[in-house]
Amino acid sequence: MRLLLEHALLETGVESGVLLETEGELIKTVRVLGQSMTFSGEASAENVRFPRLAGETDTVPGLTIPGFANCHSHAFHRVLRGHTQRGRGSFWTWREQMYAVAAELTPDTYFELARDTYAEMRATGITAVGEFHYLHHQPDGTPYDDPNEMGRALLAAADEAGIRIRLLDTCYLAGGFGHPPEGVQLRYSDGDAHAWAERVAAFGDPRVGAAIHSVRAVPRDQLPVVVEAARGLPLHVHLSEQVAENEACLAAHGVTPTRLLAEAGALGPLTTAVHATHLSDDDIALLGHSRTHVCLCPTTERDLADGIGPGRRLHDAGATLTLGSDSHAVVDMIEEMRAVEMHERLASRQRGHWSALELLAAATYDGHRSLGFEDAGRIAEGQRADLVTIDLDTIRTRGTGATAETAVFAATAADVTPVTTPASAGTGEGHR
Ligand SMILES: [Zn+2]
Repeated sequence: MRLLLEHALLETGVESGVLLETEGELIKTVRVLGQSMTFSGEASAENVRFPRLAGETDTVPGLTIPGFANCHSHAFHRVLRGHTQRGRGSFWTWREQMYAVAAELTPDTYFELARDTYAEMRATGITAVGEFHYLHHQPDGTPYDDPNEMGRALLAAADEAGIRIRLLDTCYLAGGFGHPPEGVQLRYSDGDAHAWAERVAAFGDPRVGAAIHSVRAVPRDQLPVVVEAARGLPLHVHLSEQVAENEACLAAHGVTPTRLLAEAGALGPLTTAVHATHLSDDDIALLGHSRTHVCLCPTTERDLADGIGPGRRLHDAGATLTLGSDSHAVVDMIEEMRAVEMHERLASRQRGHWSALELLAAATYDGHRSLGFEDAGRIAEGQRADLVTIDLDTIRTRGTGATAETAVFAATAADVTPVTTPASAGTGEGHR
């Protein structure tokens, strides 16, 4: 397939008149025809100089970028949208509402919710999702006949929606430091980390990765077991989203959650720390030196009144930023990018912490890498042709220019349309 892109985000920045040739699901060649090319949405003047292309090339107006990677998702939380944004409360009161939904879900309703959430993601330009999945068992904690039935429902949902998935199968063993799981948490727990690892090993699907729910939910002595079982796989973990988690961890173990994870060998380039909101200077240094990914979820963090994570300081220390829509109060990766910069402005009363290109890297290439999809997220030879286009002629984007700044600060998810469907969404195995 040949595509003539009016404008495209390449590794060098935004270029105009970009001719792509794809083979199967991969980009075979990328040629920049240049600014001088006139673009009418039809075969261009430049095309006339390549007569063999005439009639064979699909033209794509607008600004084409790599598909977004949504690196932190709990698909079923989507059902809370519009229902938990009333009254007062905190993260912990919201969690009670979320638990009430979790208690009721079946494999069928879990599938339906995820399918619709992933369809919303696809419609807004997301081509890969990291699903942080901890709802494993029946309401009383008994495994289903297939102990991975709930996880398989998510894989099937991703297949049906046409999105590539990394299923981050989550270890959850405790209701808090020194507290066994109770109530709906029984659905989350495998009993101990060895049993979790056995269940995950039995999954037999290359799309499965691993997660530690949090240091609240996986006791200190169980952490190394998870780390060992996850070796070579993406490993994600909720980290210091709440001050209360830090205080409880310090009281129980005398160290911060970040230090606890570091001592368990859980940090590194294959690991993603999700939220990383309330960190000490030492925590930031540990995450940076270990080259851990840090996934901010700004629209959820503000919805839950979590706080503002030190994104720029983490980046400067060596951590790599990625983004997720988490609870799906909003599904709009452009809004997530924009919010990273805007929140830091509000916190610091200074503008210009992040460039648009840095934020686009977080939402695309770096995000895909953190999910183990190292051949996606760039418009470059050999990369997957998972492309989406930002319409530059809507009431929001008209006159803003074919620039990275338009993609981050002017457009919204409503301006994004998929160009191609990930051809191997159903078999999106990692390449590592
Ligand atoms: Zn989460």
